[in-house]
Amino acid sequence: MQGPRLRQPKRPRLEPEDRRVSVDHSATQPCRHPALWFEDGSVILTTDTHTFCVHKTILASHSPRFAEMFKDLPTGRGMRESGGDGYPVVPLSEPGRDMVNFLRYLYDPFILEQRFPDVEQMLLAVVAVLRLSTRYKVRRGRHTAMKILKQEVATSLEEYASGRGQNLPPHWIIRLIRVARECGEQELLPFAFLQCSGWPIPCIIGGISSPNGNPVYLSDQDRATCLLGREKLLDVERKETWAFLYNPQPVEACTKAKACRAQLFTVLADKLRDTPAGMPLAFKEFEAWDILAQGCCKSCVTKFKADHEQARKAAWQKLPWIFGLGTWEELSKSQGED
Ligand SMILES: [Zn+2]
Repeated sequence: MQGPRLRQPKRPRLEPEDRRVSVDHSATQPCRHPALWFEDGSVILTTDTHTFCVHKTILASHSPRFAEMFKDLPTGRGMRESGGDGYPVVPLSEPGRDMVNFLRYLYDPFILEQRFPDVEQMLLAVVAVLRLSTRYKVRRGRHTAMKILKQEVATSLEEYASGRGQNLPPHWIIRLIRVARECGEQELLPFAFLQCSGWPIPCIIGGISSPNGNPVYLSDQDRATCLLGREKLLDVERKETWAFLYNPQPVEACTKAKACRAQLFTVLADKLRDTPAGMPLAFKEFEAWDILAQGCCKSCVTKFKADHEQARKAAWQKLPWIFGLGTWEELSKSQGED
């Protein structure tokens, strides 16, 4: 008999990153940002990469934190000694690249809805707006950025089954976890951890290379969260969602118990052979029903299908718990809290 073919999900192509690359920005002077240097601006903001001449009133109208920072600054020019063309100069600690995206957003709130050249550019802009909107208390920016990011991750089993978020590059999975932690946007976390937990352990521990060559890492705590969650997912797979295969129970209406059981063992052996060791498939849909039906009776296949579907739905409800995040309801409520 020809061996059953099981279509197993492939691992993402990952390269563990064990080099620590540090970039020294101190050697280069920040330059004027061509689009964010307004001749009629009223304050100069400096960052590691860029300087910006922008309008205090515009920034302060969006952000209580900018308003607070600017309230005691002198108005107009006349500060020749400041080295900022006479404008007051405010040094900022945030990365210049993020500040470019954030200031662009403050001047044009529709900028995140534009067509980006690729997903990398889009996520860089959206995550920068989320991070800095949180720090500078721009509620609308945070809301807009989260609305876009939530389209990139699955928060329901239906979205997960439809493939949502499956093509998100691995370095972005790690960045999403980091930004979600930083900004308290925990609803992004269950899916991101679920994706991480399917990676080879060297990638979970050693980090992932991003396209610019800089590696991105999970925090120590999140490495542990991911590895512990992986163990729980393997448990859920064996005992709940794929239990019909690992621990089949007799089906009352079964017409040929011995043959059914033999076919289950064959399919299980094939699954174990084809799936990378330790890779949890807890929420993946079993797809080899036709192969199972080659040896199992109809009653068994029908019962297993129903059990599998029901168990996946039930298990999805506890996905946040698997990664120490409580319930979906709690995550949804906590979203956007300042
Ligand atoms: Zn049967």
